[in-house]
Amino acid sequence: MKNNIVKVKSGRQGNLRPGHPWIFKSQLLKPDKPIKGGSLVSVSASNDKLLGWGYYNPNSMIAVRILTFKDEPVDAAFFDRKIKEAVAKRADLLQNTNALRIVFSEADGLPGLIVDLYGDTAVFQMLTLGMEHFKPEIVSAIKVNIGARYIYEKSDGPFRKQESLKVVKSWHGDKGNRYNTIVEGPAKFVVDIYEGHKTGFYLDQRPSRLALQALSKGKRVLDLFSYTGGFAIHAALGGATHVTAVDIKEDWLKLGMRNAELNNVTDKIEFIEADSFEYLKNICASGEKFDIIIVDPPSFLKARHSIAAASKGYKELNHTAMKCLNENGILATFSCSHNMPNEVFSNILRKAASEAGKSLTILKRCHQAQDHPIVRQIPETEYLKGYFFRASSIKET
Ligand code: SAH
Repeated sequence: MKNNIVKVKSGRQGNLRPGHPWIFKSQLLKPDKPIKGGSLVSVSASNDKLLGWGYYNPNSMIAVRILTFKDEPVDAAFFDRKIKEAVAKRADLLQNTNALRIVFSEADGLPGLIVDLYGDTAVFQMLTLGMEHFKPEIVSAIKVNIGARYIYEKSDGPFRKQESLKVVKSWHGDKGNRYNTIVEGPAKFVVDIYEGHKTGFYLDQRPSRLALQALSKGKRVLDLFSYTGGFAIHAALGGATHVTAVDIKEDWLKLGMRNAELNNVTDKIEFIEADSFEYLKNICASGEKFDIIIVDPPSFLKARHSIAAASKGYKELNHTAMKCLNENGILATFSCSHNMPNEVFSNILRKAASEAGKSLTILKRCHQAQDHPIVRQIPETEYLKGYFFRASSIKET
């Protein structure tokens, strides 16, 4: 079969970032003949030097996502090797958990593919048209290399729509369970792989949840944007006297309660269905105080242009949370948006603190768990950032 070839415009090659797998539409010459979306292409420089192999989508701003910078076949053996490598890199990470991200898209050289493991069940997501074409090869590679008993595909989310792909939710091979119990250190969680966020659980917050546990003894804790109780359960297991978990969605609170039962901490955690912004405002007005507040909102920032609006949201939340903390209380605060750079986030927090009359001491800088690798050459792989701060009053009270 003859290759599809795309060529980078002369003069635009300087915009290619070494080791970065994205080539924008504006960087490419119009192909000699139309190339079908999702096709495998070889990418050459204007002097015909091969730059790599990737998949093409003329309807995406990112027209090519490179799969390999080498001249090698992209076939079943290729995907088998890539997934084997991803598993090997994570060999040490299954010590305190049986749930792990095995493939993190661009960070593992497999743009558009997510594979998470929940006990004996692997859940994968195909996010791009290009990856969709390699589904049979990828499912075989997951089967052979991950050692999961069941494989579930949860290809949903807004990215698929952008790539004109339909939602696919189905088992490949034997049907496993919708609800899977995982362990995370001393905690256990039920994960809903059919309807849960992402592939079912926020695996990326694992290290921060474990770190919070160690700080919770004897504390009154407020877990805002709790989802299924991730931080709340860890706080309760760590010896918190009382935990309030707030989420806007009843389904997640119900699963949170199930998790509380599973961990024998139902007497410690109160689950509240509310808007965290409103709830926090009311708490603040009532004068109720907490020793630890967790602020882990969803991404307010879907596009770069909304950075001002997002900053306002983060500032308001964190400012109010700081005011509801007891003296020397701990604020665990996060932003999961790649478009919110750490410096900007950190500045928002500094301003919020000044306005709240608080001085913040950094107890811990947080980022996404190690199984969601941050590749220096690919800044977009870094998205989750956060801090544990101790907040003290600047003025004498
Ligand atoms: N900390 C969690 C993950 C939080 S995900 C963990 O470790 O598992 C963000 C959560 O915020 C989702 O469960 C979503 O339902 C909830 N959410 C979104 N908007 C909200 C709002 N305005 N008020 C309260 N919860 C909200």
